[in-house]
Amino acid sequence: MLLPSLTVFVFAAGEPLLAAPDPATPTLESAGLRLRFDPAHGSVTQFLDKAATHDHVDADSPFALWTAALADGRIIGPGEATRFSWRTPSGPESGLEFLWRGFNEVDLPGLQVTVRVRLTSSGATSRWKIALDGLGDRRLREVRFPRIAVARQDDETLAVPIWMGERCRRARQLLHAAGRPGRRQWEYPGLLSMQCLALYREAGPGLLVSTDDTAFLRKLFAVFGAERDGLAAEVVHVPSVTRDGEERYEPTYEVLATAFRGDWYTAAESYRAWAIEQAWVRESRRRRGLTPRWLLDTALWVWNRGRSPGVLGPAAALQAHAGLPVSVFWHWWHGCAYDSGFPEYLPPREGEASFRQALARAHGQGIHALIYMNQRLWGMTTRSWSAQGAERYAVKGPDGKLAPEVYNTFTRAPCASMCMGTEFWSRTYADTAEAAVGGLGADGIYMDQACSSLACYDPEHGHPLGGGAWWMDGFRRLEGDVRTRCAGVKDVVLTGEGCGEAWLPHLDAMLSTALHKKLHEFRFAESCLVPSGRISSRVPKPAGGPARRNSGAASRHSTSRPLQKPLQG
Ligand SMILES: [Zn+2]
Repeated sequence: MLLPSLTVFVFAAGEPLLAAPDPATPTLESAGLRLRFDPAHGSVTQFLDKAATHDHVDADSPFALWTAALADGRIIGPGEATRFSWRTPSGPESGLEFLWRGFNEVDLPGLQVTVRVRLTSSGATSRWKIALDGLGDRRLREVRFPRIAVARQDDETLAVPIWMGERCRRARQLLHAAGRPGRRQWEYPGLLSMQCLALYREAGPGLLVSTDDTAFLRKLFAVFGAERDGLAAEVVHVPSVTRDGEERYEPTYEVLATAFRGDWYTAAESYRAWAIEQAWVRESRRRRGLTPRWLLDTALWVWNRGRSPGVLGPAAALQAHAGLPVSVFWHWWHGCAYDSGFPEYLPPREGEASFRQALARAHGQGIHALIYMNQRLWGMTTRSWSAQGAERYAVKGPDGKLAPEVYNTFTRAPCASMCMGTEFWSRTYADTAEAAVGGLGADGIYMDQACSSLACYDPEHGHPLGGGAWWMDGFRRLEGDVRTRCAGVKDVVLTGEGCGEAWLPHLDAMLSTALHKKLHEFRFAESCLVPSGRISSRVPKPAGGPARRNSGAASRHSTSRPLQKPLQG
């Protein structure tokens, strides 16, 4: 949203919280950075990387520093405030505090929006925080902050950690491809394996936008087009709300904007320095030595589908021929229709006795099998959908409605995403997993679409509405339940589609392919298996730290469609 040019602000002179109005431009300075802000609105007008003498901000297209969307659909920003002021807080760090008030015209007379920005003395990192007080009973849907118009550079590249990471050299063109400004955004935890994105010129300068959230709170990273071929970046914070609304909202984490010189790899290294110290790495199953040995020893994966003679037989032949440990990644073993009959997986399509006996023979040959079970979909045309009243436990949007998804391109039968915050879905999935592992002999479950998350607004589900950490809390409970139920039979292997730091403590392996560069793999290779390619060798352990690797082209494993169109260019 561009600010209206004629907006009039009244400075709050003499307020206890704020120093006397300063006629100068609000400026922050460190050895590495200089940040300047519009004295009338608070928009970022300069983000100068001093060493590179490069300003990352497109000063011709300033954006409102923040916007807030309310549940009633109204969107407010600095343009709705009648009073704006700033001050310099005391302390060793260079900092600024901005305050917007006077939202009477939008019926929020008690609202105060506070933004704090600070720089460390020596570094090239800025830290940003926002708080909204006095919301009353007005429910907040999302807050977009900070919003930065990014200056065009030659050889401009956008790098986004969409699972293994994607790189785009035509981001600005793609965001204006339809003749009007477009938008792309990705959720974390979920499609974003890491909480960051970067815009840079090859070999620098570059701008890394990240957050330091350790609680897996829902947020999205976005890039969008602006007038005059502009491009901007922002972080979308999705609060948890009650039916009665919340008086205050303040994300518990900060947004970091860091200047760097290099490319996507440099940006990933910068993020890695923080991420590698976090609990999800320390508590990853691989770091804790919990990953079953057979999974670590697998040299070749066979991805196949169908009945056991066509799946396990070729795997045994490959193992004999190669003289290497082979494991099986088994789709459409189940009796229900593919991509529409979930979760009616049982019995197997060839029959229970045949399936169980074939798996037992494979075990005798040292072959293990992961079987496919989608982690969140329920076919809306299945008998069980009606019989079990599954709709009640499916994800609902802000309008209270389902958002059906179609994956089976032949029948076009819709599926619904079940809510990870409901005990009903967790129990349903765990029941089936227990039957597949304990009853059939499967060695593990491939949880399709595992590394994704959704917001849900069904007040009957018992979780906070909207964002928060409840989706990951639900996944943690589901994982624990499945492992506990299977413990008496075997150490079940749980794997998932995609990859994400949030799932490192819960999944033994993650299935991702790299369209371009593999940001995630080198960063967390010591914490989780990330096989790549349909038949792949084990991920080598990097010596000392991340090592550059060539990223060979690989095709997608999943038979489900991608959750997000890939970046191109
Ligand atoms: Zn829900």
